[in-house]
Amino acid sequence: MRLTFHAWNRTFTMKHTFPLVFLLLVTACSEPTNSISQTPPSNAITTDSLSLVEKHYLELSSDSTESVSKGTVSNGSLEHGQLFPFFGTNYHYFDTNSYLANRCFVHSLVKSSVLDAYGKLEKTAPDRLFGIMECSNKHGGKISPHRTHQNGLSIDFMTPLLKNGKPYTDLDFAGAQHYLMNFDANGRYEEDPTVSIDFELMAQHLLTLIESAKTNGLTIEKVIWKMELRDELFATTSGKKLQQTGIYITTNLTPLINSLHDDHYHVDFKVK
Ligand SMILES: [Zn+2]
Repeated sequence: MRLTFHAWNRTFTMKHTFPLVFLLLVTACSEPTNSISQTPPSNAITTDSLSLVEKHYLELSSDSTESVSKGTVSNGSLEHGQLFPFFGTNYHYFDTNSYLANRCFVHSLVKSSVLDAYGKLEKTAPDRLFGIMECSNKHGGKISPHRTHQNGLSIDFMTPLLKNGKPYTDLDFAGAQHYLMNFDANGRYEEDPTVSIDFELMAQHLLTLIESAKTNGLTIEKVIWKMELRDELFATTSGKKLQQTGIYITTNLTPLINSLHDDHYHVDFKVK
């Protein structure tokens, strides 16, 4: 799946089946408490969106200095943050406006780790598409409505899906409202129970990410994931291996934070 910006533009147009509306995004990645009241960028895709994104990336991706994360994910900042690419061979960022609002910056080692993992997944999970959701601001700091994501070490990863057991990506192009999707305690999409979470691929992604983080000087400190879906994740072939790594997947979330982490899983990295 080699895609150019032109091809992506076409894919975006074809697959974007949701109305383009401003939504009150009620999401945050923190535990155990959180206050949420902000409106995030919407996904107002225009015909010029991708060329804007391309220019944006070219303008802001020249800093190759290694990043410095200061403070913590919930009270920190980022120096020499690096902009994650809007898309690559097997991944894409979820929302044009969020991207143009500079909410896709990460620590340079996080960028290397995540890209390295996607490179490996091209071989181990060919023809699958992965999604990245919000990261950090260019200089870190508060990024409403998230309470964390403050020092370039947090990323929200889009949960991979199946429809009738087959890979399904139409919902990956919902933009900001992706955060509002709900899944039941078995991982079925509440609006369409033929759509379900691909727990095996999610576990594969996390296993690969652990490996790539390690070779890039990082560890995964925490994964925030809906508690009711933890068993389903660990029940898969790769999930069993994932559980054996001892990865910390949250077990004590408030009802609100718990309910929000099904369409995506939040990962906090740590510099070794
Ligand atoms: Zn998050």
